[in-house]
Amino acid sequence: MVQFAQVIVDVPTLQTNRPYDYVIPAIWQAQLRAGMRVVVPFGKGQRQIQGFVVGITDTAPDYTGELKAITQVLDLQPVLNPELLALAKWLAQWTFAFQISCMQTMLPSVMKASYSKKVRLLGAPTPATTTIFHDQTELDFADLAPETIKQLLKLQQEQLVEVVYQVHDRAKVKTIKAIKPLLAAADYTAIAGQVPANAKRQHELLTYLAAHTTVQEPITLQQVTTETQLTLTHVQTGAAKGWLRLIELETYRDPYAELASAPRTQPLTLTKEQANAVHQITTAGQQQHDQVFLVEGVTGSGKTEIYLQSIQAALNSGRTALMLVPEIGLTPQMVARVRGRFGAHVAVLHSGLSNGERYDEWRRIERGEAQVVVGARSAIFAPLTNIGLIIMDEEHEGSYKQDEMPRYHARDVALWRAKYHHCPVVLGSATPSLESRARAQKGVYQLIRLKERANHQPLPEVTVVDMKNELKKTKEDNFSGLLMQELRKRVLHKEQSVLMLNRRGFSSFVMCRDCGFVLKCPNCDISLTLHMDTHSMKCHYCGHEEAIPQVCPNCQSRKIRYYGTGTQKVESELQGLLPEARILRMDVDTTRRKGAHAKILRQFGRHEADILLGTQMIAKGLDFPDVTLVGVLNADTALGLPDFRASERTFQLLTQVSGRAGRAEKKGEVIVQTYNPEHYAIRLARHHDYEGFYQREMTLRHQGGYPPYYYTILVTASHEEENEAAKKIFQLMNQVKPVLSPQAVLLGPTPRAIARVNKRYYYQMVIKYKHEPQLQKLLTQIMQENQARNGIQISIDREPLSFI
Ligand code: ADP
Ligand code: ZN
Ligand code: ZN
Repeated sequence: MVQFAQVIVDVPTLQTNRPYDYVIPAIWQAQLRAGMRVVVPFGKGQRQIQGFVVGITDTAPDYTGELKAITQVLDLQPVLNPELLALAKWLAQWTFAFQISCMQTMLPSVMKASYSKKVRLLGAPTPATTTIFHDQTELDFADLAPETIKQLLKLQQEQLVEVVYQVHDRAKVKTIKAIKPLLAAADYTAIAGQVPANAKRQHELLTYLAAHTTVQEPITLQQVTTETQLTLTHVQTGAAKGWLRLIELETYRDPYAELASAPRTQPLTLTKEQANAVHQITTAGQQQHDQVFLVEGVTGSGKTEIYLQSIQAALNSGRTALMLVPEIGLTPQMVARVRGRFGAHVAVLHSGLSNGERYDEWRRIERGEAQVVVGARSAIFAPLTNIGLIIMDEEHEGSYKQDEMPRYHARDVALWRAKYHHCPVVLGSATPSLESRARAQKGVYQLIRLKERANHQPLPEVTVVDMKNELKKTKEDNFSGLLMQELRKRVLHKEQSVLMLNRRGFSSFVMCRDCGFVLKCPNCDISLTLHMDTHSMKCHYCGHEEAIPQVCPNCQSRKIRYYGTGTQKVESELQGLLPEARILRMDVDTTRRKGAHAKILRQFGRHEADILLGTQMIAKGLDFPDVTLVGVLNADTALGLPDFRASERTFQLLTQVSGRAGRAEKKGEVIVQTYNPEHYAIRLARHHDYEGFYQREMTLRHQGGYPPYYYTILVTASHEEENEAAKKIFQLMNQVKPVLSPQAVLLGPTPRAIARVNKRYYYQMVIKYKHEPQLQKLLTQIMQENQARNGIQISIDREPLSFI
């Protein structure tokens, strides 16, 4: 019987998200499974390309031409399980992406390309494995013949072999040497009789081996050398004589190794509010109910303890748990807390890991060795099975949305997986996104509110300083009199302070004081940003980099300098005002190196500094008991952005950063400097009034016709020629308009605020709608008809977080 495979092929210019049919060569029949990767011929020229098998049938597909056959099999076992295959299919539709992009997003990058792959023998050799491996323990996948692959496919199913990827980055699969006796005790005694008496070490080795023949696990070389006088050379001789097998044991690279040895934390006695939350969540878990909880808890209300105890309940019932945290800021302390409770059961996935580390963690999850996964956005694709709980901490964070294909929001994926696994989802935040809060209002999500801090302390007192008055009094524009006075007090009393410089909507560019010339990127319509660490000017959009100009290219003046406020400048200014203070700075420049972020936090935790000065990355998740003062240097820079979420982001940021103060016994105080003290986002943040903000903001969103009252989709066309991009977007508008109901609104087309990026021009339109049954189909069709044709690129972004 002939079998056929449905394959999603990797041809970006020809993505219809439709699988192509191929014949499975007889040799691989019955062993090929969905979720494996293959090489197939494609197109007229018989080009060989990669693809994912998504289905297998016995009946011939409805196709009149001659079907081609699969050329090569790339996996011995599926790399995507049935759940993830189904998820990729849905995600491609939902986000207007290519199914192949979705599948690739789910896999660690070492599995994608250019890494060499080995087949490794597991356990002791059997006759079947010996015919393939002979006396080796590893084979290069690239050298395998089809017949060998067939045999290996079988051996894999019997779990006698596995495939591993050789990672050539700094962090290779780490191995330690170990030995395994090959003979029986009696054999060793017999051999010893023939070895000359003066070969002392050989006798010692034989005695040792004879004593360890019943040991199941390989014995590490380290153990051998500490228990005997033997060295590696002796062991190698023994291996050459066939007395033992010398093997490389894999040890996982552990990015949080120092945490693994820390003592486990015990569950805390819950407050009433926490207990109620845990009860509701675990009840839904027991009932296998895919209910979504929105935990709206003030900063310090102890949301983490709720997560931990809910995870424990999921583990107790034999299920796994997935917890997402935003990309930066939260990770080190949150990982430490989860690791502290669940130890080695935890796998960690985030972009700070090397490719090798990510791959190791992924394998631990896939093999079921880790039952709890903590990670940033893409961890939502972790290959956990039997998920019993999904948590998204700080659910309002923008980093949960990916801004390249597939343009997914991790929350949507979380809800999909929860449905699949029949498990609850917990969305946690002190300042939920308006979208989620509105859904809770409607009863789609279950709202759980925590109004008190776990330590029963009041929320910190917030004082707003009007900088317009300060500027009149003193010439200082970064530090008000009140803030300086309070900072001084803290330094004197050995208490700690956190200072935030809001850099959103703010840039550090170079401007000529004589002619106003601003240095711009040659590829993009945007000013270059000054980077003191590399002493260069950089474009944040395309990566272009050039030297800092000494004279103005326009008027040759030497008065071309730095403009705007960077953390570095503020730091030196503060040091001048407060020479006795020890200051730690945390921004993109000081945290670029891996682990630098966590290191700064540890230093601050050990009181090696009085003041932690940083960008918004310090606003989240930090929990330092001795911080009694939080200062926000400029609360309103983001308010001026042409974005309907500007107020929401400002409110969230102020609330988050204020929440860093007074988390233990000592009372906390917050000072917010602003030029807009009357703005409602600042006024309400001052009173920690999220609910008030929600009401007020919803009214404005209603008036403006913005989300969550409307859904939005952003369509962008780009081309190297400006008129081509413009022509295309108008053509798309004419295609979309007729299918929209009168209820929908089409904004644009307009050039994008930064119209030219990386030598391409961008034109866009925004569709705002409530219910448009035709739209999905039409946009899918547009996506498929316009792939990289004539240099045009189309992108479709559902619920974009930024319109500029
Ligand atoms: P949130 O994430 O809600 O801002 P955290 O989870 O960081 O708050 O908790 C704030 C502080 O309260 C932490 O130091 C935590 O250890 C402590 N805490 C939480 N729950 C309890 C509890 N039930 N009893 C005592 N301390 C608690
Ligand atoms: Zn000039
Ligand atoms: Zn650029």
